[in-house]
Formats: sequence, C-alpha cells, structure tokens
Amino acid sequence: MVASFSTGPEIMSAEDSERIVIRNALVLTMECDNPHEVESTSAVLLGARKECDIVIENGVITAIGANEAANITGARVIQGKGCVVMPGLVDCHTHPVFAGSRATETVLKAQGLSYEEVASRGGGIVVSMRATRAASVAELKASYLQRARKAVSRGVVAWEAKTGYGLNVEQELRLLQCLYEAHSDSKESKCLPAIAPTVLGPHAASPELHGLDNYIQALIDAIPQFASLSQKYSAAKNIRPLAVDIFLERNYFTREQADRWLSAALQHGLDVHIHADEFSRSGGCETAIALAHRAEQSAQRKRAQGRVLSVDHLQYATDTDLVRLQTLGVMPVILPLTSFFSNIAYVEARKLRSSGVRAAIASDFNPGSAPLNSLWFAGFLALVKGGFSVPEVLTGITSNAAYAMGAEKTHGTLRTGSRANLIMFEGDVPEDFFASPMGDHLKLVIL
Ligand SMILES: [Zn+2]
Repeated sequence: MVASFSTGPEIMSAEDSERIVIRNALVLTMECDNPHEVESTSAVLLGARKECDIVIENGVITAIGANEAANITGARVIQGKGCVVMPGLVDCHTHPVFAGSRATETVLKAQGLSYEEVASRGGGIVVSMRATRAASVAELKASYLQRARKAVSRGVVAWEAKTGYGLNVEQELRLLQCLYEAHSDSKESKCLPAIAPTVLGPHAASPELHGLDNYIQALIDAIPQFASLSQKYSAAKNIRPLAVDIFLERNYFTREQADRWLSAALQHGLDVHIHADEFSRSGGCETAIALAHRAEQSAQRKRAQGRVLSVDHLQYATDTDLVRLQTLGVMPVILPLTSFFSNIAYVEARKLRSSGVRAAIASDFNPGSAPLNSLWFAGFLALVKGGFSVPEVLTGITSNAAYAMGAEKTHGTLRTGSRANLIMFEGDVPEDFFASPMGDHLKLVIL
C-alpha cells in the first residue's frame, strides 16, 4: 500500500513489497559509539556510508553496502542518488490525544504571560480536559489518527503518546483505549508510527477527587486496569508495552506523590517517564535517580520490574544529575518546541556535552505549550537555539529517542537484520537535513 499525499513524501509499508532496493544513497546508519568525539566529522559520527545500497526483504533490511543491490531482481528500485537515507525519526514525548484549541493561550504567552500565569487565569491543561471529555471516542480517534498520519508525513516512524487530558481514572482509561483502538486496525496501522502508549494520569489535579493525594491513590489502585488493557493489545506488532508518567513540578505533583505512583507502576512491570525540573528544580531528576537505583538492585535480585526510561524537560537539572542518570541508563529528553512556544530557556548542548551525556530530542506536541506536530522542527531548534551539533541532533531524534522509549532494538538505527523504518530526503551531506526546518525536502518514508 502506498499512501500518497498531494504534497509531501511517499509513504510505504515495507511489508507490502516483497523486495525493495534503494540505490546509491548517502546512508546514515547511526551506528556510532561516541556522539561527543569533537575531532571526528559529522559523517563519521553518524556511521555514514557513501554510494550505498539498502536491500529490504519482507520488511527487514537484509543488506547495507556498496553494490549490494546490483544483482537483485524483481525488486522495486528506488534511486537514492542525490539523497540521504537515515533511520525514521522517533518522537519520544508527545501528547497527541486531545480535543479543542488553546490558541488564545499561545497569544497570551506571546504577549508575555508565563505558563503558570495562564494557568492561574483558568487556562492550561484543564481547558483541554473539558474539551477532551466532551468529545466522543470516535471524534478523539479521528483527530488522533489525523495527527499520527501528519507525524508520518514529517518523517516520524515511532512515537510515544501520552494520555493526560482525562484527569480521572475512567477518563484516562477511555483515552488509553482510544490510542489502542486507533492502532489495532492492521490495515491502517501499517502506515502509522509505531506507538509507545503512556498513562499520564497525574498531569494536573482531578476535578472530582479532592486533593492530589486522593487522585494519586485512585490512579495507583487502577494500575491493574491500565495494565490489563495494555495486555489485551500486547500481540499487536506496532504497539510497545505501556509506560506511566507524572508532571512533577511546583503547583503540580510532589516528589512523594511521584515516588508512590512510579514505584507502584515499576513494581507492576510498567516502564516510567518523568516530566522533570522544567520550571524549577523540583526533584524530578533526584526521583528518577532513586527509582532507577532501586530498579537496578531489584534486577540484581532477579526481581522483574519496569525500567526508568527517561527524564524530560530538564531546564533546572544539574550536571551531577545528568551524569548519575546516564550511569543508571536513564535518557534525558530535551524539548525545544516548549521553550519556543512558552518563552522559557532552551536546554543547551554544552551543558550535556561537558558532562559527556547523550540526550534525546522530542516534540512535546500538545495543544498548549507546544502546538506543533513536528519533530523535524524540534531538531532544527536544538541546532539553532540549543547549540547541538549535527550528530547530536540526528542521534537525538533517532537512536537516543528510541532508547528513551524502550524501542532501541527496533528503531533508531539502520542495520542488517533490523526492520526497515527509514526516511530519505534530498541532500548530499548529513547537514542537508537542515535544508528545511520542517523537512519539506523529505521524499520517502518506509515503515
Ligand atoms: Zn509533555
């Protein structure tokens, strides 16, 4: 099946062609060990291979190298000369299931109001919650699917998708169900990004449950319900295991509440993300460090539990936090679009680089603080505003992002034997990724 758009790239499901070959492209495999080795050139760091062929058979890459496709017959041939092929983009932090618009808040913020001031005037997450609750499942699914298709047309082959606009157990379950249903139609899902669903129940206070502690307890009590819904869809190929998240921030949830919710989820075998240290040093990184440390000890005792996958935002994280997180295998995630729309500081690459820490870059796509469904532009901002190098951006939106959503075995690199999830854009060098901030030169997406 080829889903063509009037403008934009061709989108193919690799499973629909027995054999596909791409000839003579510059291929960036992302198979590199040290993205901060400053002496090396971008091409080396990105595992670049010139005039390279890629052979895909039944959805799996069977060869990468010069002249690999020369003797292959009966394949669909794609000419890659003048093009760069790299792993499909992985957006490891999005909030794509919602209804309604919050454009008036974008205007208020442009006029100088802060995120917290907008919230204190009745704006913020609660506005999306009202619109989302008022929408039917069919409406939510339809708008979600449109966004998922848009992401693919901008090069995203996998994304993490959070609930969080339901704000009570029943409504959060409804949103999670929506995500699963949208991805369970096998014909449609072949041309959607693979999904890593996340329950972000503790996104803000619940209007029904008085007090944040009561809401957290209700969510903890409902973990078996969330987990059993996830279990029902566990056989679907493009759906990753369920994770949970929390908005740990002053005026939102506390460290103690985060610790209770996330510990309970980890013990249940669910993975964990944290919205951490965005507006203040609120203890998000410290919580992640403590949890990951405990998870490591449990693993040593061979007790199965979830993984602490990522800490996200990090404006106020310290160098020590970042180094500890890296040692424990927790990926920092940088969200430059949120800085762009909310007029807050960008996390700068040199802070990570001086600590020798790798990071993922994500869109944070949501109706309030980042109303743009474009990981490509997030990468562009990381380069221009955050001072990230070309390899840091390109690994940040592929291999590091895949790690941040626990999908490093299936996404983020190109290697023989891995599933074909890749993109091709016009260009001759890795830097050509930035020829257009929105990726208008993207030609092909293979899922
Ligand atoms: Zn977010």
